[in-house]
This record gives sequence, structure tokens and C-alpha cells, in this order.
Amino acid sequence: MACHSSNYAQTALHQQLNTAYEQYREPSLTQKRFKHTDLLPLIEKRSNHPLFKVTKAGESVEGRAIYVVKVGTGKTKVLLWSQMHGDESTATMALMDVMNFFEQKDGLDAIRKQLLNQLSIFMIPMLNPDGAERFQRQNAMGVDLNRDALRLQNPESKILKQVRDDLQPAWGFNLHDQSRYYAVGNTSKPATISFLAPAYNEQKEVNETRGDAMKLIVVMNKMLQKYLPGQVAKYSDAFEPRAFGDNIQKWGTRTILIESGGHYNDPEKQFIRKMNFLALMTALESIAQQPTLVRVWITTKIFHSIKVGYTTLYCERYKYNLTIKLLN
Ligand SMILES: [Zn+2]
Repeated sequence: MACHSSNYAQTALHQQLNTAYEQYREPSLTQKRFKHTDLLPLIEKRSNHPLFKVTKAGESVEGRAIYVVKVGTGKTKVLLWSQMHGDESTATMALMDVMNFFEQKDGLDAIRKQLLNQLSIFMIPMLNPDGAERFQRQNAMGVDLNRDALRLQNPESKILKQVRDDLQPAWGFNLHDQSRYYAVGNTSKPATISFLAPAYNEQKEVNETRGDAMKLIVVMNKMLQKYLPGQVAKYSDAFEPRAFGDNIQKWGTRTILIESGGHYNDPEKQFIRKMNFLALMTALESIAQQPTLVRVWITTKIFHSIKVGYTTLYCERYKYNLTIKLLN
């Protein structure tokens, strides 16, 4: 078999995506406030697209449809859900950019094909459309869905639980926004992106599931530091027994929380949206790679030892070769 050009291998995926981003950016979403009616045509147009499978997972309290959009046919399942809190829309925009990426044909066809062959990617953009309608955190019943993972008293919570249980995904991405006033540790820099591999018990132990999530965070952090030096943080890992991230980790899906915070001169969060896109694509690339190719310079101990939130990830100091093992 002929060798492929080495150009592709020498330029990291994030660099190529950064350069070509305008091709993927969903042009109809330009501000952080948008509604279910703005999103619907973007989802519905995929229902007839050969790459996608669109499934209605259920309805919100007020009867708005909540969809799962699938792309890829690989054996490793990845589930991403955004806007569980109605006023946290940054990652919803990024997910629409991810969908656009897979529809394009360009110089990145090789990696596109690899991702589609190795992964089955399931996206729930806007889990809380009633909250998005009002641009509020809670759903139409005034409930914070992220405290309803066990009681499951709301249709939106039931949908997320049902989809997770049906799919049993290897990886889960819980996509939120946080206050733009949070800083990284005791620095004056904004926590533009914060990560967490949520704890699955009070002791905040690290098992293989949570450890893998931590390692993937290190991969994303390393990439983001090139664009957001000193502006990536770790979210507090106090165990919250009613929260989805904590429980989904407990149920065996490697779960990563991504919080979009603030960035300089970015009130509509359009730069942060792009950083979300780069982080998610980098994560998908890492998951799709052969496990032996993924080398992460970290021990999980640094996460375990950090007690307080908003602390920078000083990953490079901990040189330790580990691999991310994949679960089907
Ligand atoms: Zn949130």
C-alpha cells in the first residue's frame, strides 16, 4: 500500500480545524440567545441526510421535541448532550458546528472517515428547550434538571437517562456554561473553559472509568493551552449525588463535564464556541485512535489531590505514560 502524504500527520487536527473553522461554523447561530425554533430546522434537515440518523427521544414539559442526532457507524459510542440548563447555549452552537464538519468534503476527509468508521456519535443538542425559550437555567417546572438524575421527575431528565441506558456509551460529554467571572485558581485570568471528570462517590475515588475521563481531559487541555494560555481550569469535584455527570460516571460511562466560562471581548461566546468545537473534535480524534497511539503525560493522582475548584491543570509536570483504553 502506498504511503500517505506526511503533511497530514505533521499538522495537528486542531490546527487544521482552526484554519478551516469558518467552513464549519453554523451561520444561522450568531448569539447565545436562540430558541428551539431556531434549532429545529438545523436538526430536521439532517433527517434525510445519509450520514445522519435523527431520532425524536421525547418531548419537554411544554411539548417541544428533544432529538438525538447520530453520526458515524463505529463500535465506540460517544454521547454528548448540551443545554440541560436553558441559558447555557455555547456547546449547542458547537455541536451544530460538529454536525456541519461531518457534512463537508475537504482536505480533512481522511480523519472524517476515520471518525465515522470508528465512532458512533450521538448528540442531544438543547436538552432543556423550555428553559432555552425563557433563557433560564431551570425547565418549565422551575426544576434544575441537574438535580433530578435519581428521582427523574421531569420528562427531560427521563429522556437523558433513557438514552444513556439504551446506548451504554463508552464516553459521555456533559456540556454547560458557567459564570464568566470565574478566574483560574488565584490568577486574574478568566476560566474560559473548565473541565471535570465528575466523582462517582463521596470519597472521590478514581476508578478506571473516571481515570480515563481525566486522561482525555489532559489531551483537551494540552491542545487548548495553545489558544487559551492559562485560561483552562478544573471544576470543583465535590460529589453531587443528584447530578447527572456524577451518576453517569457511576453508571460506567467515562464522563467529562465541560463548562464554558468567559473570554475577553466575547459577550456572545463565539470564540468560546470555537474552542468547544476544537476541544470536542480533539476528544473524538483521541477516542477514535488506536489505544496504543494515545500517549498521555499524566497520572490521575494530580486530579485526586486537588481539593478545591478552579485550579489550573499542570499536566506537563507529571510525565507518565498511560494509554486510554477503549470500551465498546
Ligand atoms: Zn449548567
